[in-house]
Amino acid sequence: MKWMVITALVLSSASLVISALAANTVLGGRSANYGSASVNMPQFIAPSKAVTTEAEPKTAPSAASQPALDNSANAPAAKPAEAKAQKVIYLTFDDGPGKYTEQIVNILNKKGIHATFFMIGNQLKGNEQAIITALDAGNYVGMHSMSHDKKKLYKTGNSDAFLKEFKQEQSLLEKITGVTPWLIRAPYGSKPEIDADFYDDIAADNFKMWDWTVDSKDWNYPGKPERIVQEIKRQVHRDVEVILMHEKAQTVQALPQIIEWLEKKGYAFAVYKPEQHFPVNFGKDERL
Ligand SMILES: [Zn+2]
Repeated sequence: MKWMVITALVLSSASLVISALAANTVLGGRSANYGSASVNMPQFIAPSKAVTTEAEPKTAPSAASQPALDNSANAPAAKPAEAKAQKVIYLTFDDGPGKYTEQIVNILNKKGIHATFFMIGNQLKGNEQAIITALDAGNYVGMHSMSHDKKKLYKTGNSDAFLKEFKQEQSLLEKITGVTPWLIRAPYGSKPEIDADFYDDIAADNFKMWDWTVDSKDWNYPGKPERIVQEIKRQVHRDVEVILMHEKAQTVQALPQIIEWLEKKGYAFAVYKPEQHFPVNFGKDERL
């Protein structure tokens, strides 16, 4: 089924409640002056409830006192403990694990932030340590199918092969990490291959599915990290953005600059948390 091209959608509200626990959170005092980034954008459903701060179970011993948002290295000592709007970035990395996974995790660690990974099932074997390292550092490891093969996943038009691959990957990741992931990212995005019945089946199997709001097009810029930075600068303007990137050499090169620019724009960084799930899918399906 063909879907209409969705044009830019303005987020209604994506304010995050920063509780008293978040006293040491960066609250992004700098004001941002955005250019007019007018691009065709996926549907993005803003969090229906305010995302509340919550302890990070997998990070520091002081996790109980940490907010869900990551602190940047230059966090101010204290901020008034009141509800404030906070612009938030979810960095996402597809197509790992592989030789760049640990480099990406190292950069995130240096910046004191976390990201969400969507890994390919057929690449898990041999990369177990990189997966565990990413998870232990506080990142989320989601699923990106076993094969990443467009023909295998979408050829029939029904969800059978697709769901089979994600269930297989879920069980593999569970064995490796002890954690059962439910968040998937459909290879090539959920449109146009995935139709309404397909969405129903994904929801029926209890998966959650994230597309993205910003496509860095990083795969298209080998040797040109500055183009990736430009692409992100051009597209980022919402209060909450989910940025699609890939585990590529040029992405590793661009990443520090991307993070620094986003920080300057007043964004905090967040990692996917199942208990704070909100829909980000091109079909605007609230079940996913
Ligand atoms: Zn992919």
